[in-house]
Amino acid sequence: MQNARKLRYKQRLSLPLPDKPRLIEAAKIEPLIYGKYRLGVLMDAQLGVSGLHSLNFDNRFVGSLPGDPETDNHRRQVNAACYSRVMPQPVAKPELVAYAREVAELLDLSPADCTTSDFAAILAGNHIIEGMEPYATCYGGHQFGNWAGQLGDGRAINLGEIVNRVGQRWALQLKGAGPTPYSRTADGLAVLRSSIREFLCSEAMHHLGVPTTRALSLVRTGEDVVRDMFYDGRPKAEPGAVVCRVAPSFTRFGNFQLFASRGEIDVLRQLVDYTIETDFPDIGAPSKENYVAWLAEVCRRTAIMIIDWMRVGFVHGVMNTDNMSILGLTIDYGPYGWLENYDPDWTPNTTDAGGKRYRFGHQPQIALWNLVQLANAIYPLVEEAEPLEQALGEYARSFEQGWQEMMRRKLGLDSIDGAADMSLITELLEVLPLVETDMTIFYRRLAELRTDRDLDEAECLALLADAYYVPEQLNAGYTTRLHVWIQSYVTCLRGGAVPDDERKARMNTVNPKYVLRNYLAQLAIDEAETGDYKMVNELLQVLRTPYAEQTKYDQYAAKRPDWARERAGCSMLSCSS
Ligand code: AMP
Ligand code: MG
Repeated sequence: MQNARKLRYKQRLSLPLPDKPRLIEAAKIEPLIYGKYRLGVLMDAQLGVSGLHSLNFDNRFVGSLPGDPETDNHRRQVNAACYSRVMPQPVAKPELVAYAREVAELLDLSPADCTTSDFAAILAGNHIIEGMEPYATCYGGHQFGNWAGQLGDGRAINLGEIVNRVGQRWALQLKGAGPTPYSRTADGLAVLRSSIREFLCSEAMHHLGVPTTRALSLVRTGEDVVRDMFYDGRPKAEPGAVVCRVAPSFTRFGNFQLFASRGEIDVLRQLVDYTIETDFPDIGAPSKENYVAWLAEVCRRTAIMIIDWMRVGFVHGVMNTDNMSILGLTIDYGPYGWLENYDPDWTPNTTDAGGKRYRFGHQPQIALWNLVQLANAIYPLVEEAEPLEQALGEYARSFEQGWQEMMRRKLGLDSIDGAADMSLITELLEVLPLVETDMTIFYRRLAELRTDRDLDEAECLALLADAYYVPEQLNAGYTTRLHVWIQSYVTCLRGGAVPDDERKARMNTVNPKYVLRNYLAQLAIDEAETGDYKMVNELLQVLRTPYAEQTKYDQYAAKRPDWARERAGCSMLSCSS
């Protein structure tokens, strides 16, 4: 725990001095009348009948927590409040690009409900229906290691929370639906390009078994949004879009941090208690002890999420503390990317090209750093460092154990017994980056290995040939090292009792064939920008069963073509979205 202790002190020094706590009572806030909208009232009596109108809203977040008394939508610092009420900005011409039927099902919506014209209009933010109480939440965060103060939902507007037929709670959030009090200098909008990336990736991650926020719908707005994609003074008009995200809660580490940084301890306590009671009911009633237990649980969930990222080759790209979900969900799909050639130092985010803070191989440590910031944020509620440090230890414990188990499953091993099996794993992770090796294809090809006879060097290369990007790199030194590794792998497999076919089947349940390769997302974007949404929908379909062979979609399992190596959107992304 020495590292955690060091980080804790470092962070405490960088927190700004607290403001005075000031409490707002939600119950005293007048209902909001905004332009032609009044909260909770269906504005357009002409809207068709759709399942959306029978959604069972139960807006516990705004009902339980202190809100901002000010309802005028202008940019500002918002003190001692968890949210501000704000209406989405209507758009010119909502057009449904895609929706996820599985997410609709979570909300008790049928496919027919999702193809009505009012579905697109409502999920573009053009209509507020009965039960919705739109709001943006207030949070802060550490960006690239520096405390950034108030951030908040600058372009996310929560419509409300639904309790579905089986009692699950789902918050609905529009991303790109217009400015909020937290928009700072930006426009509150999102472009089609980044919205496609968020929509497809959140669903792909879910089907891969990675904890994530979900995406119900992707709607084009019919309006242009201007973006300077590489911040090089060449702004361009791009099509605008809105994604409706769905999650049990969108609360981030940064929500807690902001109140702690301002010394708004009463609000901090309310938010922590609310979160424990609503999202972590198994922890028990809020108390000092349970705050610590809760932190340990957040550590455990975060570890599970990061292990899954490492398993599938996902690089988040912007692991700022405002982009860390308290539920351990992958959240805020910005300049993320998928490892093509296995390179632990790779980050897709050009904004982070210098320090590469959020590179693939650094994600486990960054998650811990972020958890330390969360622990600092709740320190005022516990007032003792030691139990919090103990709880932070849960991250390392969960991570180490889970990571080993994940690698065991990736390699189809029966068990990991001692140093020899561990060195099999560590040697593999050293061999993989020696030459450009496609991580996804590598593990699928490795599953094809037969253990009934020994392979020579040429046969090892042939087995993995599909995974290599640059055949000229396959020199004698590499080939020998690979061969030695495969031999020890085969020896290890022979020591177990799993037949080859069964091992292959098992490996193929954790090593996907299909991931949202960076260049595939870009091709779908290029098409969608011309008004053709076929590829977006086809990718959504393929990525529903990423572990299945789906031979008719083989082209979506192909490694990155050469043209995509240095193309914007494929290997390089900025935060501009
Ligand atoms: P991100 O890097 O996307 O996680 O965003 C960091 C912060 O900037 C969050 O508070 C966002 O709400 C805000 N933000 C990002 N893009 C926009 C935008 N176009 N308009 C308003 N706020 C934005
Ligand atoms: Mg964010």
